[in-house]
Amino acid sequence: MERGMMKRQYRDVVVWDAERTAAERCDVITEGDRITSILPAGTLDSGCAYEGRGKMALIPGFVNAHGHAAMTLLRGLGEELPLMEWLQERIWPVENGLDGDLVKAGTKLAILEMLSTGTTCFADMYFFMDRVAEAALECGMRCGLSRGIVGDSDGSKLKENLKLADDFNGRDGLINVQLGPHAPYTVPMELMKEIANTAKDTGLGVQLHWLETSSEWSISGLEGKMTPEDYLAETGMIDVPNLLLAHCVWIRPQESAFYARDNVTFAHNPKSNLKLGSGIAPLPAYLKAGVRVALGTDGAASNNRLDIWDELRFAALTQKGVNKDPTLVASAEALRMATVNGAIGLGFRDVGLIKEGYRADMILIDLDQPHYVGWDCENLSGFLVYAGSSSDVKGTVVAGKMLYQDGDFVFADRKRITEEAAEARRKLTAR
Ligand SMILES: [Zn+2]
Repeated sequence: MERGMMKRQYRDVVVWDAERTAAERCDVITEGDRITSILPAGTLDSGCAYEGRGKMALIPGFVNAHGHAAMTLLRGLGEELPLMEWLQERIWPVENGLDGDLVKAGTKLAILEMLSTGTTCFADMYFFMDRVAEAALECGMRCGLSRGIVGDSDGSKLKENLKLADDFNGRDGLINVQLGPHAPYTVPMELMKEIANTAKDTGLGVQLHWLETSSEWSISGLEGKMTPEDYLAETGMIDVPNLLLAHCVWIRPQESAFYARDNVTFAHNPKSNLKLGSGIAPLPAYLKAGVRVALGTDGAASNNRLDIWDELRFAALTQKGVNKDPTLVASAEALRMATVNGAIGLGFRDVGLIKEGYRADMILIDLDQPHYVGWDCENLSGFLVYAGSSSDVKGTVVAGKMLYQDGDFVFADRKRITEEAAEARRKLTAR
């Protein structure tokens, strides 16, 4: 242990992660940003540790695997409009007024919301991403960042994305940078090939919107010429080191097996897909084929919460209902999607489990409440997904630091951040 490395102890907490069949009462020690020991409950002396008393769950922090954090400033704009009208008339004109300061203010607002609802790591694809990185570092938040690349006839956006990687990849152990080609209908095929090659040369991952709406493939101009799977093979995207495909609503279920690869993760956004009327992804087919699926909220303008608990419940319940099959998408599977699967999708191979050597990204959930009466170590995942909510989160720990505890942000000034965001919103919507 390095001198001065912060050590924290959690006594008699109820530990669950996706590698366990049942929860277990344990003591947990973290040193610096890692989990270093998991011991039988009650091994540690009381008094020098956070006391769980067997009534506080400790699970991996949630990973929000798809989003546009600064869209918190656009929340509520153009509600319930058709998708293209919403984008073209309400969202894009406002986004044109964004600058680095506004994006940073909106991102910090998003980070407050995510920390208070149990998210410890978020994906972001947007603009002014150096300012997003600053916001995350100042708050101590983990993230996977990409510069959204649209068009890019002069190559400046790809260059900007690579500079983001030079400046921030690996910073403080918190940031992984990905390349961010927006979608097959906004990025020409030659550029998509170039980005895939760049990813292979640099080892960077890629975030890509993929088949979100039913008309996307015809808009891309590729319908009738090649299948989406041929496109991924032809551009080389399917072979990049780490490919995070957001949405995946309109993949033909029979093609699921194509995506069951160690370097590919889907970011499923059930609430955004419902709200924008995009459809319902054939999630059971993906899971059956062995595709790694994570959960995301998408931007706050299309959700409108950055709360993974909602996604857990929508992912698990929607499929049961539309398929008339209550066995689909079990609660433990939904929690796996919300934790370790998202971490892998963003290139963090040592995040998302409560395991010695893993990064100490975890949340504390208060089980001593009326709606948890009856929980036990076998049924905990069901209680969390079907009865729990983000208001049960009592602590959010990122890289060993408790960033949120009992309603307070330990390292962030809630008042200042919300005031700055409110002012940013006023500026942005007044233009
Ligand atoms: Zn998106």
